[in-house]
Amino acid sequence: MPSGKLIVITGPSGVGKGTIVRSLVQEYSQLHLSVSATTRKPRPGEVDSRDYYFLSREEFESAIADGEFLEWAEYAGNYYGTPKTKVQDLIDSGKLVLLEIELVGARIISGIFPDALRIFLLPPSIEELEARIRQRGKDSESDIEKRLLRAKEEIAASKEFDIRIVNEDLVTAIQDVTQVIFEQQK
Ligand code: 5GP
Repeated sequence: MPSGKLIVITGPSGVGKGTIVRSLVQEYSQLHLSVSATTRKPRPGEVDSRDYYFLSREEFESAIADGEFLEWAEYAGNYYGTPKTKVQDLIDSGKLVLLEIELVGARIISGIFPDALRIFLLPPSIEELEARIRQRGKDSESDIEKRLLRAKEEIAASKEFDIRIVNEDLVTAIQDVTQVIFEQQK
């Protein structure tokens, strides 16, 4: 049986993590994207149980109390967490399991899965990141400010990761991430 593995993809909001990860899971059947839970409200077009499990704060807090998360963190005023169910089973069944999570969660995962491959996606510059978040047009001004503040903290910690990839051009970044993931499998 092929060996499974956990792959953590982190990087500031707006860097393109979601787009890159979605492209990878569409292309490679051995990759499985873990669906997170959040208390953030769905953005237009987001679907419950596909993009996130959208929970109330009460539901999320009771899931924390029941030990249902592998990791969880607060980010820009909301909770985000990786449900425990299935991640280990998927790894044991030979899947490459992708977690698309922020820095605090990525650090927790490093403690639980020291063998996880940790990839950090960087923007070409903070100005470009801000432009991308604004172009996306899905966040309020106060949310954008929180995300940019957090982005600076995350970028400052990027050296903690195994691999750093700059998403200047989307096609190239997807190729780079693909190469890193499958190189590690050899
Ligand atoms: P967004 O609101 O833009 O979908 O996500 C905000 C941030 O939360 C992103 O950096 C995203 O990677 C991160 N995130 C999404 N799911 C999880 C999770 O399960 N755990 C943690 N720690 N962060 C998550």
